[in-house]
Amino acid sequence: MHPTYDVVALGELLIDLTPSGHSQQKHPLYEQNTGGAPANVLACLSALGRKSALICKVGDDFFGTALHQSLVRAGIDSSGLVWSKKEHTTLAFVHLGQQGERSFTFYRQPGADQLLNEDEIDESLIHKARLFHVGTLSLTGQPSRAATFKAIEAAQKVGLPISCDINYREPLWPSSGKAKEMMEKLLESVSILKVSEEELFLLTGLTDADAGSRILFNRFPLQLILITRGAQGSDARTRQTHATHPAFNVKSVDTTGAGDAFMGAILDQLLATGQNLDSLEQTTLQQWLAFANAAGALVTERYGAFDEMPAREAIERCLKTNNVIR
Ligand code: ADP
Repeated sequence: MHPTYDVVALGELLIDLTPSGHSQQKHPLYEQNTGGAPANVLACLSALGRKSALICKVGDDFFGTALHQSLVRAGIDSSGLVWSKKEHTTLAFVHLGQQGERSFTFYRQPGADQLLNEDEIDESLIHKARLFHVGTLSLTGQPSRAATFKAIEAAQKVGLPISCDINYREPLWPSSGKAKEMMEKLLESVSILKVSEEELFLLTGLTDADAGSRILFNRFPLQLILITRGAQGSDARTRQTHATHPAFNVKSVDTTGAGDAFMGAILDQLLATGQNLDSLEQTTLQQWLAFANAAGALVTERYGAFDEMPAREAIERCLKTNNVIR
């Protein structure tokens, strides 16, 4: 059977409320954006012409309806979207620091995304995919934690590769120890992992990419580890080889979703080659990083993320400039 979807993801679909200047009375204004890392990854894949579906839960409210419409507009299959009559759609207020660094205030005690339960997972979607993708927000509490592990099991049963972006959001976890425990449980099933340096430190106690990756390769059946470093670029490691690539020099205004665009672009490259991850050559890895760094850079040139994912042509134009940050 030919798979219907390139990627099926499970995870949060929520509203990002992003600072958007001030009113005439000098009150801060917030812009309503579609957010949630797994949803952004699929939006990137859609912009690259890939087929996908999202398994998620939103509130049966105004925001949930808007999010559903976003999926439809982006061409992401929404048949795995579940409506909660009980809890509202999760909201995340984004705060920008002096240097443009982001922090979040989540309205999720709990929010609808966390109430996704095992019985609501449509496993037939997973059976029709080439790859399964998750984050870790769905592991912060029950019942979405159990639902996530059930979906992982379904993906493993049909032999799908599983990718994961750790995307650690500290305030959503009862403790960093619990976060680590759940992430480690998840990593037992993951083949493609994306982390930031802080997340590498959380998982291994090390920030050094080489030593940290070695620990992860020794403990888990991972095949590819990607480490992103914002404007410092990214690197990738398999058990055999590694590659690194600088970031592209663009006029960044909002870094939201850079990591999600990066992740989506890597999955696109992986799906295009169909090559076994264990036999990837360094030059291929380097090309993947260049492509994904360009995708990440381009999304930072505009406000928002989900609706601003770059087309393949834009990424290729960016690659041709070779205008990297040295
Ligand atoms: P995350 O959003 O997951 O923390 P990063 O911020 O590291 O991920 O971004 C992922 C990739 O996007 C980076 O490796 C880099 O290539 C690109 N990127 C992010 N921020 C910038 C920036 N300010 N300028 C250029 N490229 C960027």
